[in-house]
Amino acid sequence: MGLKVLKFGGSSVADGIQLGKIKEIVEQDRDRRYVVVSAPGKRFDGDSKITDLLYMCKTQYDHHIPCDQLFQVIADRYNAVAYNLKVDVDLESHFREIREEMEKGCSVDYVVSRGEYLSAVLVAAYLGYDFVDTKDLILFDSRGRLLGEETNEAIRQELARHERAVLPGFYGSRKDTGKVQVFSRGGSDITGSLVARAMDADIYENWTDVSGLLMADPRIVKNPKPIDRISYIELRELSYMGASVLHEDAVFPVRKADIPINIRNTNAPEDPGTIITGDTESLGDKVISGIAGKKNFTIITVYKNMMNKEIGFVRRALMILEDFHINFEHMPTGIDSVSMVIESKELEDKLEDVLEAFRVQLSPDDVTVDSDMAMIAVVGLGMARRVGTAARIIDTMRDQGINIRMLIQGTSEINTMLGVENQDFEKAMQSIYHEFEPEE
Ligand code: ASP
Repeated sequence: MGLKVLKFGGSSVADGIQLGKIKEIVEQDRDRRYVVVSAPGKRFDGDSKITDLLYMCKTQYDHHIPCDQLFQVIADRYNAVAYNLKVDVDLESHFREIREEMEKGCSVDYVVSRGEYLSAVLVAAYLGYDFVDTKDLILFDSRGRLLGEETNEAIRQELARHERAVLPGFYGSRKDTGKVQVFSRGGSDITGSLVARAMDADIYENWTDVSGLLMADPRIVKNPKPIDRISYIELRELSYMGASVLHEDAVFPVRKADIPINIRNTNAPEDPGTIITGDTESLGDKVISGIAGKKNFTIITVYKNMMNKEIGFVRRALMILEDFHINFEHMPTGIDSVSMVIESKELEDKLEDVLEAFRVQLSPDDVTVDSDMAMIAVVGLGMARRVGTAARIIDTMRDQGINIRMLIQGTSEINTMLGVENQDFEKAMQSIYHEFEPEE
């Protein structure tokens, strides 16, 4: 028998109707043995996610604002699901326990983790699977960092005792104190990946509300084609530039074990979705896999004659950014200049001070600032094997009358980055997409 690990996101567990779909999906394939769930998400536009309500509830409680009503709203969401699906779970005792823990001054992480906890308790009962808590399986060190190997071993040992199980996503606990700790938002994706790795799954199915990744953001490019297969590294490049379908840290555990991820749609289970894999041979011969981009970058360029001969110049420039706690994204250099590409929000209220520090500490010939810039990443393993991709991008921009302000090709050759002005961003994305859109 094979083994598949599934993770269902918030919208897939939002109400009884969605849980009905989950049951069908799980029961369709006997290999679907371990199921990780998020807390219930939004059921419709304007609805609230349980995790957000729990954060709110804890804040109100800490500020001595009565949170009984809010707590009841949360409880009612679970009660409604249990009632509609006729699941026999003593939810009241769980609610009571959470209230008691709050009165004892429990942490915010504990409170918000209850969203996935209750979700998993319900789904386990509904599917007839064992409920396995992740609290003592996913372990963090005293500085809050994931203990990868210990976690792997703990999950492996525990699940060896359960043929089929439902596990809550999003949290684990500190090894030293035993206290609950959550991942960053969207972290149930990481839980799924950790479980898939520990159980050496054939595949990690990540069920959400879209049928996988698209080659470009549909808000910018009309009807972009879906991506059927993509490598882990391409996904990383695209997510970095804003294409979001999976928590960034979710790729690492499965990648280590070479387990493919399949992004699937709970609302359209017949769609094959996107496979994210390390097997680059299986990707076909497309030139690019996708494009992604973001607006609002600032480029600071420092000019200094003979800069290339001045040892430590770039280090000092970067130290200035470090002193101001500013993260930079790219740093193309020329012989007498170095540019730093920085998200504009990083520079808010700091720009003048940073420029002054450059002037005083680097004695440059000139410093220029280009704000309102957009960066576009054209990503594809296929670029590394082909001549002329950059030329095609440049020609397209020329034909559209768009000025390329910066062009960077990563040394891995799988990502060509383009800097254009914010006002040209949408047009640039659309024309690059059309240039590389695969034919049917
Ligand atoms: N419920 C958590 C959140 O909303 C974690 C998750 O859904 O993955 O961020």
